[in-house]
This record gives sequence, structure tokens and C-alpha cells, in this order.
Amino acid sequence: MQIFDVYPLYDIEPVRAREVYLWDKNGVQYLDFYGGHAVISIGHSHPHYVRRLTTQLDHLGFYSNSVQIPLQKELAARLGELSGYNDYQLFFSNSGAEANENALKLASFHNRRKLVIAFAGAFHGRTSATVAVTDNPKIRAPLNENHEVIFLPLNDETALQHAFQRDNICAAIVEGIQGIAGIHLPAPRFLRKLQKLCEQSGALLILDEVQSGYGRSGKFFAHQFADIRPDLITIAKGMGNGFPVAGLLINPKFQASHGLLGTTFGGNHLACAAAVAVLEVIAQEKLIDNSAKMGDYLLSELRWITKGLKEVRGRGLMIGVELDFATETIRKKMLFEHRIFTGSSHNPNTIRLLPPLTLKQEHADRFLESFAAVMRDL
Ligand code: PMP
Repeated sequence: MQIFDVYPLYDIEPVRAREVYLWDKNGVQYLDFYGGHAVISIGHSHPHYVRRLTTQLDHLGFYSNSVQIPLQKELAARLGELSGYNDYQLFFSNSGAEANENALKLASFHNRRKLVIAFAGAFHGRTSATVAVTDNPKIRAPLNENHEVIFLPLNDETALQHAFQRDNICAAIVEGIQGIAGIHLPAPRFLRKLQKLCEQSGALLILDEVQSGYGRSGKFFAHQFADIRPDLITIAKGMGNGFPVAGLLINPKFQASHGLLGTTFGGNHLACAAAVAVLEVIAQEKLIDNSAKMGDYLLSELRWITKGLKEVRGRGLMIGVELDFATETIRKKMLFEHRIFTGSSHNPNTIRLLPPLTLKQEHADRFLESFAAVMRDL
């Protein structure tokens, strides 16, 4: 059987990883400024995480959501405390798309409406409702075309005001920081306005923190820079540090009922063990502060590079570097000559930096020196 060939692949085969490094099958070491697509939060194969997972597997790897799973409650308590959302409820799933799909469904169950506001450049997933609110017609099949969605430009308050003249808006969905689009920040004022308009019209505000959450931005959630409290918040990537686990934080005003949402794998023992370990390490090692500190350092140092650089955007360890030209050759040189992984984005001119939150000054300096050298030799 062949693998369904949907991913362009580098000819690199990593076999081992630790902290911010990966090694390929030939023993070549790589510095990870991509985090396997913003997934690696506490560093590769963190010993505490490995211990928690292996111990759990030794006891009980999986049983269905028909029995008591105290680990789910432990995880919810820790997450509530660290994120500042103690009063919210938690629903588990397995991927970012599923978390968003459930958020959209819950919003629609709640106010019985269908029309969703989404934003230009948005990526929310590939399931039916999430791909409909994703601004990329190429990945939308005819089957996905029956959703009612209005796309608005990000940070355009006038367009927002105009759209909310309708009285049938179900929800607005927005990323804490737009990732795949190439790191675009919703302005705090824009988010506050969005929250207010949602409140006034009975629409629900969904914050997609799948990529920007879990301390990546330098706060637990990127939307916390705007001082808003969304109705629904979705989490995934950094939550399991590579173990597939996702979640939906739900405002107390939503009433649960048996059977309303459901999943086979969501919240299983192993997933919860991974996610608890991640939160323990984030708290113990003060990784949110580290993300803010290292992010500020990278952002300020990157701005010294002038040749070929158009703009540097981001918060914490979620950084977009936009060049005056397509980044592909630069990214290849970084990878094959300097052995540093970086991320691409939908904008061919923008590189995404999404390293583990454990990044240290020496790693940042190695990246900066390599990047400066590659840009100098243009
Ligand atoms: N939302 C955002 C902001 C994302 O970046 C992604 C994944 N890149 C998703 C949702 C979908 O997550 P998943 O691939 O886990 O379904």
C-alpha cells in the first residue's frame, strides 16, 4: 500500500529528539525553530512528560468516556488555574479542527443560528464547518460549500460594524494570532469591539487558540493581551507536546446535556497524562515568561537585519519574518546549510518561527547568526 501523497517532504528522517534539537538517521543535529508546526511546547521528549506517559501506559492506556477518568478533572483544574478560566467547562477532542467544529456546533445549538463571521487569512481546520470558515477555497470540497459564512478583513472595525447590522449572526471565529496566514495580530481594540458586537447581537465569540495558545504568545492565551473573555476557546497543538489532544473551553452560560457532544478518543487516559505533564512543566519551568522574554529578544534582534527584510511581526515565540521575496531558498539554506528548521506560511514571503517554549538565549543567538549570514549572502 502507498501513502496518500499530500505532503511535500524534505529528505530528512529524524529518529531522535531532545529539548530544542532533533537528530536524523545519519546523526546530523538540527535546531528546531518550527516545533513540528507549533506543537512542541515543553521541548522534545521532556523527561517528566516521558515518565508521566510511560507510567500511565503501564497502568491503563485507554478506556471510553463511559467511566470515571479522574485525570480529566485533574487536567481541567490545572488548565483552569494556569489559563485564568477556572469557571469554564472543558470538552476534549483530538485535533484543532475537531475543537473548532465542536465550538461552532455548540454556538449554533445555543442560539439556533447559522451565519458565521470569519476573517481574511483565517485557518480553522479541514472538517466541514471549519474548512468553511477557513479562507482558502482550494481546500474546500463542494460538500463543504453549504455553510453560511461572511469573511471580513482583519482589524477593519467599519466592516465589522456593518456586518453586525444583521440580526442572525450565530458566531464570530478568530485566531488569537493568525498563524498560517503568516503571523497577523488582531488589534486588541478590534477584539474588544468584536466581543461587544457579539454580546449585543446574541452572537458567540470563538477564539481559536489552537496555534497561539498554551503560552506561545507570552501569555497563556494570545487574546489575553486584549483583555477579553470569549464564550468559547479552542486549544490543541501545544496542549499535548505531540500527543494528539485538543480541547474546547466553554463559558458557564452553556448548559451541557448527555449526548450533546461526544468523541471516542477525546480525553483518554494517555492524552490526559500527556496534557497534565505539559501543564506541570509549563508552570514549573515558567515557560510562559520564557516565551515572552525570548520572543522579545528575537523580535528586537531580527529588526537589525535590514537587507531584504520587509517586516517582523509576532508575540512571544510566534514570529513572522516577511521578506521582500519568496522565502523558499532562505528556508532551504537554513535547513541544509545551517541545520535549522523554520516554518513556511500561506504568504510565500513569510517565514514562521515557532520554536519550543524552552528556547534559551544560546539557541536564539545561533538562529540569529545563521539567519543574518544567509540574508547577507543573498
Ligand atoms: N486552527 C489553527 C489556528 C491552526 O493553526 C490549525 C492547524 N494548523 C487548526 C486550527 C487545525 O488543527 P488540526 O490540524 O489539529 O486539525
